[in-house]
Amino acid sequence: MRKNIVAGNWKMNTTLAEGVGLAKDVNEALKNAADVKCDVVICVPFTHLAPVAAVIDGKLGLGAENCADHVKGAYTGEVSAPMVASTGAKYVILGHSERRQYYGETSAILKEKVNLALAENLTPIFCIGEVLEERENGTFLDVVTRQIREALFGLSAEDFGKLILAYEPVWAIGTGKTATADQAQEMHAHIRGVIAEKYGKEVADNCSILYGGSCKPSNAKELFAKADVDGGLIGGAALDAASFMGIVTAF
Ligand code: PEP
Repeated sequence: MRKNIVAGNWKMNTTLAEGVGLAKDVNEALKNAADVKCDVVICVPFTHLAPVAAVIDGKLGLGAENCADHVKGAYTGEVSAPMVASTGAKYVILGHSERRQYYGETSAILKEKVNLALAENLTPIFCIGEVLEERENGTFLDVVTRQIREALFGLSAEDFGKLILAYEPVWAIGTGKTATADQAQEMHAHIRGVIAEKYGKEVADNCSILYGGSCKPSNAKELFAKADVDGGLIGGAALDAASFMGIVTAF
């Protein structure tokens, strides 16, 4: 059975002291929460990984927001999957639209990153999603199909089964404009169908597909109630422990 998951993406926010404080707050809130029905993960800047790992306990998962497409060597400024894993992190966001848009990450690059992350037993949270123009011109289902095929369909069924997917319509990220629960469900069901065609129904049914894009405590319940929405990847609302927990407890 697939898991319900709420993962925070802090992006390039918080100083180290602020980040450690926020992680402690989330960790404490999670420990004290009565009935949590999902896995909870925070994905934090590279600089924060080891110090955050030291202040959270096993109930709260930790991830990076990216990793390099090489294992080691002369790649100044990059952080590799083995480095991420060495901090105690267990997850890594890959293919976020901001990485695709601002840092030119292509499907070929992402394919490498996914392979390197899996080799370190990191769980990729792999992001896919269309831009506004593609939503409006009706090509959004095809765009997302292509993103999945190009970056992920070289994987074995066993490795594909280790991924978490996150559908994040780019027009909904940080804009306050959320996809409706029906729009999310339509895309998530489509994604599951695309996976089933390649890997079979069991792999598709076991894949957690998160929704991301202006998800907050006020809309999380409706989104998570949809059959194929298995949780959320949360940006802005993950920067406040109470808001983040408001989403975690929406399950
Ligand atoms: C994100 O960038 O992963 C995201 C979902 O951001 P926000 O929740 O702020 O729209």
